[in-house]
Amino acid sequence: MKGYCGKILKVDLTNKTCTDVYIADEIYENFLSGAGLAAWWCYRNIPAGADPMGPENVLCITSGLLTSTGSCITGRWMVVTKSPSTGGIGEANCGGTFAPFIKACGYDIIAFHGASDTPVYLYCDDNGPVLKDASHIWGQDAAVAEKMLVEENTVPGKKIPQACTIGWGGENLSWMAGVCNDNGRIAARQGVGGVMGSKKLKGLCFAGNKPVSGENPEEIRRLSKMCAKRANMAFMPPEIPTGLLHVAKFLPEIQLSPDGIMTGVLMGTWGTGGSSQFAGQTGEAPVKNWSGSQKEDFHVRALNKTDGSHMLKLQTNRYYCYSCMYGCGGELDISHIKHNDQGYSRVHKPEYESQWDYTGFLLNEDNDAMLFINEYLNRAGMDAISVGGTVGMAIEAYENGLLKESDVGFPLHWGDADAIIRLVKMIVHREGIGDVLADGCKRAVEILGPEFAQYAVQGGGMEPPMHDSRPDPQQATLYAIDATPSRHTTGGSLYYGCMHLWKKVTWAPPAVLVGGKQGEWEVSDEESLKVLAAAYFKRIVDGVGGCYFGFLLGTAIYPIFEWTEAATGWGNTTDDLMWIGRRIFTLRHMFNIKQGLDPWYSRPHPRMVGEPPLKVGKVAGKTVPIDAKIMSVWKNAGFDEKTGIPLQETVEALNLPYFLDGPIENFIKEVPSRG
Ligand code: SF4
Repeated sequence: MKGYCGKILKVDLTNKTCTDVYIADEIYENFLSGAGLAAWWCYRNIPAGADPMGPENVLCITSGLLTSTGSCITGRWMVVTKSPSTGGIGEANCGGTFAPFIKACGYDIIAFHGASDTPVYLYCDDNGPVLKDASHIWGQDAAVAEKMLVEENTVPGKKIPQACTIGWGGENLSWMAGVCNDNGRIAARQGVGGVMGSKKLKGLCFAGNKPVSGENPEEIRRLSKMCAKRANMAFMPPEIPTGLLHVAKFLPEIQLSPDGIMTGVLMGTWGTGGSSQFAGQTGEAPVKNWSGSQKEDFHVRALNKTDGSHMLKLQTNRYYCYSCMYGCGGELDISHIKHNDQGYSRVHKPEYESQWDYTGFLLNEDNDAMLFINEYLNRAGMDAISVGGTVGMAIEAYENGLLKESDVGFPLHWGDADAIIRLVKMIVHREGIGDVLADGCKRAVEILGPEFAQYAVQGGGMEPPMHDSRPDPQQATLYAIDATPSRHTTGGSLYYGCMHLWKKVTWAPPAVLVGGKQGEWEVSDEESLKVLAAAYFKRIVDGVGGCYFGFLLGTAIYPIFEWTEAATGWGNTTDDLMWIGRRIFTLRHMFNIKQGLDPWYSRPHPRMVGEPPLKVGKVAGKTVPIDAKIMSVWKNAGFDEKTGIPLQETVEALNLPYFLDGPIENFIKEVPSRG
């Protein structure tokens, strides 16, 4: 076995049928598994101009090629579909424990076609798949629904099933809804949960036992031991570097390429939320809906009150995703906090995104409110990044007189924790103005009027995360050029420095160990190749089920290339694997073009690139020459420099016409599923 199962489960929700689709090896050899294989499936099966919320859309839930082979930090599961928020390919991924259960049922992807007219869920075990009635769990939040699915499908003495579900957001067809597992961990972005809701699919519950292995299990194990050992090495206790973060504002602006050995201990101790103080001090975190600065608007006192390290005092335990030794997750006891009208006790430790989004970004100094909002959105199955960005737009519109108290129902000011919580709940349940905001900033502007566009910070229909792109031109360019725009999980200057790709990939330009950042604003082939190297590498990582935070270890410690070769035995060099990453990258763009998108559609909102630049703070005076950067990347990707359309010679070199337009019977064989 080469890591993958060789099979997709096609579920026709309209006709309630399940079909095993055997996939030819050459598809895996050219698109890997996971999000790469799903992108190929979506390209072949979603017609041009399909309504994302209609039955012609296809929703793929997939695990990665390396998941369950014995490799580390490779247990992510991914959702791929046509996105309602961007109109192009939609993709979100999540950790937790669900991914290996997909492969243990014998499938690489579960592909949902059509739509049910009543609520259903998919159950699958060694006897095969079966669609079951979900009327009794429709209306429950994601965590409660998951618990109910697991309980009703648990057979005493047998493996306890795992489930993923949508919450209220998906049921309400929000373009900001995601899909959850493990009590509200969420594959959040691009409205994938809304697509699932449109199919009346509440969840999946899996309990198979099929084995998974790679070609060379000893080599996979050897690499995993090395990775685990080096990831847990550290020269100093974690408190020292995080203490240094508190004085980060005094640091000069530098580019870093750390070797990754502190990553495990830092992530395990603090999780991602531990970096919020650092981000606020350095200008990494946007303030006041991208219009303000830490210096003027969210001063040090506020920063200290909302620093992510406060969460650790409430932490009751840590948890780990499948196959990961970081354990960056944790549970907190928030039963005492005054906003907790839902009676939550043990909740997820917020990630950095929520930590900053509901504090510095909205000028809120009430850390407890952020903890409550994070859990509320997790259980509702809503994307905390997009909801935060949309709330930011609404507050700024209110402060500037475009929204009135009569529109909202109450005053809506910066930093008013009670008002923010109230608006978040209205968005989740589509109540009042919340119905207008429930599909994100871009859609809200279409309803409310073009005068709101100035405050609707988005790119290609997606609200950007809490990573300011003005001090990081690589990040700004990646926001623009990825087929799933405005996502931070591809790269950026620090991430590229961490990846150390240049040690493995012949054409990837090196980053300096420690040095100035001035060169990053230049438009050059070298800067564009860094962006593309990160983008192609991410396509590999999402094909094998890797975690973004594995990047931080660098490819010497996190041996994705070597694991993939040990699992498949394909005989690929690292350059060959990057070529596969390039093929998937190009295919995703072709999906968007097939769906009618002009590649310029994802140019970031002017604020995201400093048009005009801020006047004060760490980001003052910075403008990214984004149009020239985008064109340079397209040229280096083999796309038309002006239009962003892949050149014929590029798609032919990647053999895409054969895979995308060749007879489908060359690649698949369909057999009715048992069960
Ligand atoms: S680093 Fe954190 S999110 Fe990533 S796989 Fe490990 S525990 Fe999960």
